[in-house]
Amino acid sequence: MFDLKKHPHRRYNPLLREWVLVSPHRTARPWQGRIEEPAIAVQPRYDPTCYLCPGNERAGGARNPHYSGTFVFENDFAALRPETAPEKFSNADLIVAEGEPGICRVICFSQRHDLTIARMSLKEIGKVLEVWVAQYLELGALSFINWIQIFENRGELMGASNPHPHCQVWANLNPPNELSKESISQMNYYVERKQCLLCDYLTLEIDAGERLVCANESFQAVVPFWAIWPFETIIVGKRHVTGLDELTAVERAQLADILKRVTTRYDNLFQTSFPYTMGFHQRPTDGEAHAEWHLHAHFYPPLLRSATVRKFMVGYELLASPQRDSNAEEAAQRLRGRSEKHYLGKKS
Ligand SMILES: [Zn+2]
Ligand SMILES: [Zn+2]
Ligand SMILES: [Zn+2]
Repeated sequence: MFDLKKHPHRRYNPLLREWVLVSPHRTARPWQGRIEEPAIAVQPRYDPTCYLCPGNERAGGARNPHYSGTFVFENDFAALRPETAPEKFSNADLIVAEGEPGICRVICFSQRHDLTIARMSLKEIGKVLEVWVAQYLELGALSFINWIQIFENRGELMGASNPHPHCQVWANLNPPNELSKESISQMNYYVERKQCLLCDYLTLEIDAGERLVCANESFQAVVPFWAIWPFETIIVGKRHVTGLDELTAVERAQLADILKRVTTRYDNLFQTSFPYTMGFHQRPTDGEAHAEWHLHAHFYPPLLRSATVRKFMVGYELLASPQRDSNAEEAAQRLRGRSEKHYLGKKS
């Protein structure tokens, strides 16, 4: 009999319409690869060399105000520029390019250099959420902005150059690859069944129970059935809303709560400031209703078996298909077993 816990199999990701190869029998394989240096556990509250700390000079020459709380600024080395003309270039449909207008901003979560979401108060995370909503609305109102990606790169393992708590917003005209795939999948599901893909998926996960991590009244954190990264999670709203802007005040507070709880569980897993890429997926801002879109957040953390051993996406994964050794159910069980009290204690 086919056993998901023992036999090699592939799992389908209905959001991306892609497969992941799962090899649960390989979990005990010896590791002789690279050991990462553990990140320095404690950062100073203020770092005079940090380009995001209040009052400091940034690499581009601008100086930060003496801000307290959140602080938003245009990225000094933006990947996108608003004035770019959306012109097309094509040579026989094989060598193709398009001008891509857009805006890139940086959002500091706090004046404190040493905090992370896991160690911020719910009130402080709530202020960050207000900024995310305001940015989504402000950027989304621009005629050349249809797609808004809010994302946080946390930790050196994810290439984050600065530990200061911050995220980025990249907003642009044309659908980025991952958003385009998810948008089409959700639309097709909605047209075929008159139902929402993620509403239906969440119902199945809550029934199954084995991949749930934690929840509150408004949000559920799950290791998705099709997870690629060892401790990947998705946070899904229990009510169908298409974007951050549609959350009620209560739901915003509950989103702050679930973000803090998930990141705390992550930190407690290997007693380290857990690295990850996190980001929100929500409806495009092209003026349409997009009832098919269901707001959610993805966490993609690279750590595999300790604070120093990470997963690499190489070899077969680059050339053929993503693959994982342990299965999603084991990962969920380990995250469920972690405390929601941070191992470093209360925020100082
Ligand atoms: Zn700083
Ligand atoms: Zn839904
Ligand atoms: Zn998504």
